[in-house]
Amino acid sequence: MPSQSKGYLTLNVGSSSIKFAVFDAPSLNRLLGGELDAIGASTVLVAKSADDGTIRHEWDSGKAPDTHAGALAFLIDWLVARLDGLQILAVGHRVVHGGLSYDRPVVVDEAIMSKLATLEPLAPLHQPHNLAGIRAAQSVFHGVAQIACFDTAFHSHQPFVKDCFALPRDLYDEGVRRYGFHGLSYEYIAHHLERDFPLHASGRVVIAHLGNGASMCAMVNGHSAASTMGFSALDGLPMGSRCGQLDPGVMLYLMQTRKMDVNAISNMLYKDSGLKGISGISNDMRTLEASDEQSARDAIEYFVYRAKRELGALAAAIEGLDAIVFTGGIGENSVMVRERILAGLGWLGVELDDRANRESQTIISSPRSRVLCLRIPTNEEHMIAQHVQTRMQT
Ligand code: AMP
Repeated sequence: MPSQSKGYLTLNVGSSSIKFAVFDAPSLNRLLGGELDAIGASTVLVAKSADDGTIRHEWDSGKAPDTHAGALAFLIDWLVARLDGLQILAVGHRVVHGGLSYDRPVVVDEAIMSKLATLEPLAPLHQPHNLAGIRAAQSVFHGVAQIACFDTAFHSHQPFVKDCFALPRDLYDEGVRRYGFHGLSYEYIAHHLERDFPLHASGRVVIAHLGNGASMCAMVNGHSAASTMGFSALDGLPMGSRCGQLDPGVMLYLMQTRKMDVNAISNMLYKDSGLKGISGISNDMRTLEASDEQSARDAIEYFVYRAKRELGALAAAIEGLDAIVFTGGIGENSVMVRERILAGLGWLGVELDDRANRESQTIISSPRSRVLCLRIPTNEEHMIAQHVQTRMQT
């Protein structure tokens, strides 16, 4: 990396992986980016430099960091060694939950960290790791602004009917509401649409962010109008290991009949459900697609069924549909899942172009399709960098 220059670092610390990127300022060209994956299992770090050269770091057996703290410390040292004099102006962090208080990126201080920590129970798979990422960066980049960018922010300021539950009103006032997540991904796609498909961007769009975490967002004129995720990152679509929509009566049953406590239920809903729970094989769509087991087929079928059902519900909520966008690891890469979700939606004005879908082109609908169907890779890191730069300039 060139010395004398300045840039931003972004960190997206998840439950089993850490995504990172270094951007030049003010161009926001990516200088380096990658992922430290499978923490605690067969940990591997893969990065790409600006010229697309791949850097891979693997550890000798038993030597890989097996905790988040160890992985973060390693990664930050590894990054610092590669900065080659580049001055980091600010570090941007993906923080899943901003609660009621944070509807835009903030420069984090101790008071804000304490407030964000109170939201950990609402996103136990993510929030504690997000905050650990901030702490780790603070300890190395002394005096450098740490900027939290929230997944909930894109969905804030929804009218009451769209963010309430039909529960006693005092719970709403306390913050028991639908927040929605994956906001950084949706915001990135919204910008992309505005640039490349401005006509559709100003209309009614459903974005399907289908990855290990999965949700859908209905947008009108570039703004979030409804989302499948709600109070926590559990609701809506089934995910890698999260249950998605669930009758609350099931939880009452588990407590009353199986005598399961909060921890046992939480573990089940977050870690042992979704594709993993139904298939009993894996949370990974690639593994399920490659499997001959009936339970793997059942898991995919349920995933597709729920996605189709939520798509219809969101289209009804925004009173029509002009475009659908697929993104996330599954949405971007699974030809079969895209095809199956869109199959039979002719009544909604959807007509898939099989070849374009097979070739994973950007436009995957036929020219006759009333609804434009798109495949657009998301880039949460770039969205974070954009927020960081804007925040540093204000
Ligand atoms: P993400 O959380 O966005 O990184 O997405 C992870 C999910 O994307 C996992 O379920 C992967 O199996 C899935 N995925 C990645 N590549 C493919 C592919 N080529 N075909 C099907 N699923 C894929």
